[in-house]
Amino acid sequence: MSAETAHRADVVVVGAGQAGLSAAYHLQRRGFVPAGAAAAGTGRAAAEGPEAAQGPPAGTYIVLDAEDGPGGAWRHRWKSLLMATVNGISDLPGIPQPDVDPAEASSSFLTRYFGGYEHDLGLAIERPVRVQSVTREDDDPAGRLNISTSRSKFSARAVINATGTWTRPFWPIYPGKASFRGRQLHVADYVSADEFRGQHVIVVGGGISAVGLLDEISKVTSTTWFTRRVPLWREAPFDRQAGHDAVALVEERVRQGLPPQSVVSVTGLIWTPALRAAAARGVLDRHPMFTAIEPDGVRMADGSFLAAGVILWATGFRAELEHLAPLHLRGPGGGIAMDGTQVAAEPRVHLVGYGPSSSTIGANRAGRAAVAGIVTLLAGSG
Ligand SMILES: Cc1cc2nc3c(=O)[nH]c(=O)nc-3n(C[C@H](O)[C@H](O)[C@H](O)COP(=O)(O)OP(=O)(O)OC[C@H]3O[C@@H](n4cnc5c(N)ncnc54)[C@H](O)[C@@H]3O)c2cc1C
Repeated sequence: MSAETAHRADVVVVGAGQAGLSAAYHLQRRGFVPAGAAAAGTGRAAAEGPEAAQGPPAGTYIVLDAEDGPGGAWRHRWKSLLMATVNGISDLPGIPQPDVDPAEASSSFLTRYFGGYEHDLGLAIERPVRVQSVTREDDDPAGRLNISTSRSKFSARAVINATGTWTRPFWPIYPGKASFRGRQLHVADYVSADEFRGQHVIVVGGGISAVGLLDEISKVTSTTWFTRRVPLWREAPFDRQAGHDAVALVEERVRQGLPPQSVVSVTGLIWTPALRAAAARGVLDRHPMFTAIEPDGVRMADGSFLAAGVILWATGFRAELEHLAPLHLRGPGGGIAMDGTQVAAEPRVHLVGYGPSSSTIGANRAGRAAVAGIVTLLAGSG
């Protein structure tokens, strides 16, 4: 790509979910303004909202987001995931959530909140723009990064990657999977339990989505639950210290260059009144993984056959990092070695909402940390 044809910004943020918006907020607070030509419809005046820094600009930024509108992954979460049933959503920095009706779908409430936030702060967000690749312009470690997108090209001194996991549902491979005559879907495609009425539903996975959906689906039809490992239920309360310990564990993994673990593998499954009721109904009786999928059901570990019309894979997500592949950030441990939010081997790239920061509170903190790191980096590289 020719740098002459690229829109230039000091910092490009990829993704406008909780993590990307937090980064944009902190960039603006530190005196960054929208990158001129690229900031379609968001002039400097708009960006100088109540949270903007005074004085000359510290640099320029732009957020590129693949969605058609605000909300990040919340735009796509199933309608029955209500504000009452999510695990607790942290406020975005600077503007608290308006009053919440617990019965409202998280998808509509949070999309509205994020949209108002972007508008009120005049954040420079372009969408829909999908980043296809990030490459180094040359061998200079303080040089620029080229960003190719579905719309146009950008050139930046640093990239804050905030692309989440929703677009990378993980489907394990099981023998006979292609032979199944019923319906297979991942939780990323789940709409409503009503679709499954009259069919036996197999739910695979040991995380929060699996148990939440088992509870919901079992109210309209029969279900069987399969997990690879015995699920780990947490009997002790999940307090601040427990949250801190869980984050510290994942932080240590990514510092060592290992792939981050799922949240539930470090926190354990947390009992809620609804899950206790589901357990009392026998819905949370877990079976070890089936050995094969057959056209009309699955072969159980004990050799018996279980007929089913639906297999729901609640098997988690992976980080959406395809576009960073040309930078060869992955190390021999299979993960990306990190120093806080900064990629250890490529200080111009920060990952936010990744690993230890893949919660709404973590995403907030990561956005602030990434911006602080980039301010230092840019000051050092002149
Ligand atoms: C079912 C479910 C329920 C959850 N509930 C909670 C909860 O209650 N509380 C909590 O704290 N956490 C919860 N989480 C975790 C939650 O995902 C994170 O906390 C947070 O919402 C993720 O924010 P994010 O900004 O990292 O990612 P996202 O919200 O996924 O935003 C990423 C953005 O990047 C965009 N993008 C992706 N690739 C590209 C690209 N190549 N180019 C441009 N843009 C791109 C996406 O379109 C999206 O807009 C839940 C997760 C799941 C799956």
